[in-house]
Amino acid sequence: ATPVALLVGTGRGAQLGVLIKGPEVLENTRRVDTVLLDKTGTVTTGRMSLVAAVPVAGGDEAELLRIAGAVEHASEHPIAKAIAAAAADKHGTLPAVEGFTNREGLGVEGIVEGHAVVAGRPALLADWGLTLPAELVAALDEAETAGRTAVAVAWDGEVRGVLVTSDTVKPTSAAAIAGLRKLGLTPVLLTGDNERAARSVAAQVGIDEVIAGVLPAGKVDAVRALQEQGKVVAMVGDGVNDAAALATADLGLAMGTGTDAAIEAADLTLVRGDLGAAVDAIRLSRATLRTIK
Ligand code: ADP
Ligand code: MG
Repeated sequence: ATPVALLVGTGRGAQLGVLIKGPEVLENTRRVDTVLLDKTGTVTTGRMSLVAAVPVAGGDEAELLRIAGAVEHASEHPIAKAIAAAAADKHGTLPAVEGFTNREGLGVEGIVEGHAVVAGRPALLADWGLTLPAELVAALDEAETAGRTAVAVAWDGEVRGVLVTSDTVKPTSAAAIAGLRKLGLTPVLLTGDNERAARSVAAQVGIDEVIAGVLPAGKVDAVRALQEQGKVVAMVGDGVNDAAALATADLGLAMGTGTDAAIEAADLTLVRGDLGAAVDAIRLSRATLRTIK
């Protein structure tokens, strides 16, 4: 392979909206057979909105949103932004949070107006010895079945309610996934979100295989498990929680609209955050290497 021909390939990549770290990346791109796709911010827009606030029986809906919004205000997560924005819309300025802790892939914790607040996956509340009452389990089940993400909220040792958030699939995702299949690649959805929401998104974009409910370390494990089965794995992601998996994959692709951590860890950046560019990049690398041979 002449380096010049490879560089022509990388120049063409820039025209397609793909930034390639170095010409050697193309060789790995060509061999890929499995593509792991992060859900939130990669297959979906990641711009979430709050669709419902469900307080515990006898609870106060406005207070649920105000207190949860105050803690989430300190987080950059798309779910957090949706909750904080809805709370600020309704209540104006939100109270300050002290001792904020981001529990990556789980939720958030902090002190608001003297209350010790926790908001996130039911598994995070379980860490505090808290379980959801039946009516909130029902609200959570209904939300997740509809493809939504429910955030459980507790303070001062009591579960206070559930906040339901919703995301939308990017208009270009389904066509891009069909394009990956045409190239003979197997798409797999990989997410920290719940299994039902993941299945709902997967069905909308034509993905059959789903790995859900994984913590950030679990994303790396998923990449390794496929590699141990002999697969050559590409991973596409946008979040801080995707960075380690992007670095572990045979080929890491970051959304240009994503976090710096993801872009630094990846081999390729899809500048406009459009999955269609991933298909173009793989097609281009195959064509480029064919010309060289
Ligand atoms: P993804 O893999 O889809 O990008 P993450 O790993 O960032 O998802 O998060 C996994 C899950 O953890 C979310 O679906 C949500 O249930 C929970 N979670 C993460 N961050 C927060 C937060 N700031 N507030 C509430 N829940 C959160
Ligand atoms: Mg993401």
